[in-house]
Amino acid sequence: MTSLSQRIYDRLPVLGQNLAVSAYGMMIRRRRRGGEFTRYYNELMESQWFEESEMAELQRTRLRKLVRWACERVPFQRRRFEEAGIDPNRVEGVEDLRGLEVMTSQDLKRLGRALVAEGVQDKIYITHSSGTTGTPTATFVSAEDLRRNYAFRDRSRGWAGLPIERHRTASFGGRQITPIERQHPPFWRYDIVNDKWHYSSYHLSDDNLGAYCEHLARIAPIEIFGYPSSIYAIAAYMRDKGISNVRPKAIITSSETLLEHQRQTIEQQLGCKIFDEYGANEQTILVTQCEEGTYHINPEYSAVDFGPANDGEKGQFNPICTSLVNYTMPMICVKMSDLVVSKVNRCRCGRVGQVLDHILGREDDVIVTPDGRHIGRLSPAFHSTAFVKEVQVVQVEPERLVVRIVPISRDRFDDASKAAIRDLRSRVGEKMRIDTILVDHIERTSSGKFRAVISQINQDGCVRA
Ligand SMILES: [Zn+2]
Repeated sequence: MTSLSQRIYDRLPVLGQNLAVSAYGMMIRRRRRGGEFTRYYNELMESQWFEESEMAELQRTRLRKLVRWACERVPFQRRRFEEAGIDPNRVEGVEDLRGLEVMTSQDLKRLGRALVAEGVQDKIYITHSSGTTGTPTATFVSAEDLRRNYAFRDRSRGWAGLPIERHRTASFGGRQITPIERQHPPFWRYDIVNDKWHYSSYHLSDDNLGAYCEHLARIAPIEIFGYPSSIYAIAAYMRDKGISNVRPKAIITSSETLLEHQRQTIEQQLGCKIFDEYGANEQTILVTQCEEGTYHINPEYSAVDFGPANDGEKGQFNPICTSLVNYTMPMICVKMSDLVVSKVNRCRCGRVGQVLDHILGREDDVIVTPDGRHIGRLSPAFHSTAFVKEVQVVQVEPERLVVRIVPISRDRFDDASKAAIRDLRSRVGEKMRIDTILVDHIERTSSGKFRAVISQINQDGCVRA
């Protein structure tokens, strides 16, 4: 939403806001599910059970088509292939792209429209990544690109046992659904077109959580969708108050790294499984969990090449992705700043393709120790202590961490602080200085996300400008 339309929306009465949310829901539904959507979805429902050779052939066919299209329509990509001495007509698989210089999100930001294909007849939409640092990356897509993308999302809903038809959903995302300064409920608005309740992620304070829980129990959602940190706030409150009357069929989390303690509390308190998604606004990768809980890289969505591991045998990678769904702004060999841990095993569900062991987090969310180790998941151990409500670790210098702690009560700060230092010390070593500070609240990003770990230094050890 632009700042002007947000201001107008904020001044509407609740009923007017519900109507505005529903009108927007109708527009989005048409855009995502119009055109060739059903064909894309049906194809995916079939291809998920392809044999390895069939899937490899499908991926090669799509990669050939995408690469040739990009070199015909995007002068920048044509030059890139020429400079690398690669004939786009001879590209058969990702191994043939290894001579190309990889692109980063900074390149995407810098080049912007220069990466858009010439002569696209359809209307072009711009979507923005909800980046946590710096300016967001703009991605240009047509409605058909969006539909190809959403067909995958619907397939994953099926993996979670959810219907693809309209069903009651509670959504916790980054939209400012109620004005920030609002003190009293309702902190939610209703999209009648999609039977979707949008909840504010910006009002989840102790004073308001009771009202959220009561409302969730009343609407009885089949699906809960959104940021793990928001859903966790609800689940932790329910645990503390002994509330167990919200029973969705499945929970879909996305946009933030799902932490183990969050998964445990949410699944226990809401009585169903979480199906975590990991995707990129640039449509370069989509990873979704199947019924077995395995993180599958959707092989029809993008061709992913793992370069050399960052840490040798542990297998941490920055995936290098070529999108097979975005024809408006073809993405070829784009290196993700996120760190993932790959796994070679096949999944018991029978679907082929690469799988991930877990997602470590964004590069910004990873601490680098003085001896060069990357540590992405810190907080589960903190949360196993009984004194902590929320904690955030910030690497402010190569050899200094600041730990912001919201203890369960002020007189437990010392206990929380000692536990945090003890745990961190065992992970980052003796060289790192660790300072703890007491805070009342941990700030969310402008898009409402919670960040458990923040690095203010570059990977080469310099403090960010
Ligand atoms: Zn599986």
